[in-house]
Amino acid sequence: MAGAIGELRAAFPGERVVLDEERLAEYGKDESDLGVFQPGVAVKVESAGEVRSTFAIASRYRVPVVPIGARSGKSGGSLAIHGGIGVSMERMNRILEIRPADLTARVQPGVITGVFQAEVERHGLFYPPDPNSLDLCSIGGNVAENAGGPRALKYGVTREYVLGLEVVVPTGEILRVGRQTIKGVAGYDLTALFVGSEGTLCIVTEATLKLLPRPRHVATALVCFPDVDTAAQAVSRVLAAGVIPRCLELIDDVSVQAIARGSPFQLPPGAGAALLFETDGNDEEQVFAEMARVAEMVRGSASGEVVVAQNEAQRRDIWETRKYLSVALRKLAAGKLSEDIAVPRSRIPEMVARCREIGKARGLLVATYGHAGDGNLHCNVLYDGDRERGAADAAVGEILRAAVDMGGTITGEHGVGLAKRDFLEYEQGAAVVALERRLKAAFDPLGILNPGKVFPET
Ligand SMILES: Cc1cc2nc3c(=O)[nH]c(=O)nc-3n(C[C@H](O)[C@H](O)[C@H](O)COP(=O)(O)OP(=O)(O)OC[C@H]3O[C@@H](n4cnc5c(N)ncnc54)[C@H](O)[C@@H]3O)c2cc1C
Repeated sequence: MAGAIGELRAAFPGERVVLDEERLAEYGKDESDLGVFQPGVAVKVESAGEVRSTFAIASRYRVPVVPIGARSGKSGGSLAIHGGIGVSMERMNRILEIRPADLTARVQPGVITGVFQAEVERHGLFYPPDPNSLDLCSIGGNVAENAGGPRALKYGVTREYVLGLEVVVPTGEILRVGRQTIKGVAGYDLTALFVGSEGTLCIVTEATLKLLPRPRHVATALVCFPDVDTAAQAVSRVLAAGVIPRCLELIDDVSVQAIARGSPFQLPPGAGAALLFETDGNDEEQVFAEMARVAEMVRGSASGEVVVAQNEAQRRDIWETRKYLSVALRKLAAGKLSEDIAVPRSRIPEMVARCREIGKARGLLVATYGHAGDGNLHCNVLYDGDRERGAADAAVGEILRAAVDMGGTITGEHGVGLAKRDFLEYEQGAAVVALERRLKAAFDPLGILNPGKVFPET
């Protein structure tokens, strides 16, 4: 590393090369609860050219390069498990242009997603991908993880909005892939390959994003159920009836307990589970008519009235409660392993029940909440201290395998990263994983970019 650090110091201004241990430890953490894995040095890049220079230095000394976004990741993708150079995108945080006539925007990867959304909305436009971490995460991290969020049910995930990318590959080429237009099918779809590549094929240095006109009306509602099975069945009923709200979020009984401990929106006493749903569009009457249809379908099995947010403040409180569930759950146990499996929507009730049984068999609580409308469930295994950690790990393994056995996936949006690399083959099979490894080698022949992620180490 010493040689690489020397060259980085010569190539970058002093304040952009981080060697201070405390600051490096910050770069070595994310939201995955996997521990601290700090890089040997971090460099704050400002251009694609600087990323290329960093790759050149790393290649000469054969040291790893780890792209670091806003570190809100939940699968450990930005952790420098083999040390090396952390490439922080925080200074590449400019919105380069918003083109209302083309319904597109060009941004640098370090732009915080919520900041971008707010800016776009000032132009009467809409960028739908809305990870619940949108105030914490960056567009580059969203592209790398193909992030989703509650609105994915109606609008799809990040991939649907990435038209083109500027990327730097480990061999040093700066490539522009994709297009600036809405349509375009020339050549292989490398943009789609890079989106969701979890920082293992390239470093994204610019993204051209598709925008939509902003829907003029949104209605938000919350309804409680006596128990989670009833709530999960209501999700399946709504979807089977052909209604697609823009969001349909499930909150189970354990999550309800967490909410009771000080979240902004309090659920009625005795609630055993809840559904949060939202409809949107340009015609106010239609938006409320759709909401009424959903309400009708869930009311029969609900334990109370459907509460429709009456103003922006109420809407915000409901969403704040949902957004910070992950944080609220930490008050129930010292440790939490958070998974984000997805199953075919018809299997949601079965998956929710399975998660609970898997926990119960080991004496552990499992909180299941999330984007139930698209089958994407966040299963949080709660545990106390080191004594229960082994049991929690085993429960997670069983949950991931159960999702695959039901025709689902080990990750709906958080990525494989470090957390789930040992389960990739269970889902995809050896031949597919071997092909993916060959693809990785084509882009990164020296294996310097984010090693140890997505695939188990050989
Ligand atoms: C409270 C909370 C709620 C969340 N809710 C959601 C949700 O609803 N939906 C969802 O999808 N996710 C969610 N997440 C997970 C997380 O926010 C997303 O995965 C997000 O996309 C990560 O972005 P980041 O900028 O923080 O990236 P980081 O965590 O810094 O990095 C994530 C991965 O991207 C790579 N990377 C970062 N920048 C680049 C780049 N420029 N080029 C190449 N690779 C890069 C890193 O190497 C790493 O592999 C949530 C997280 C939290 C803490």
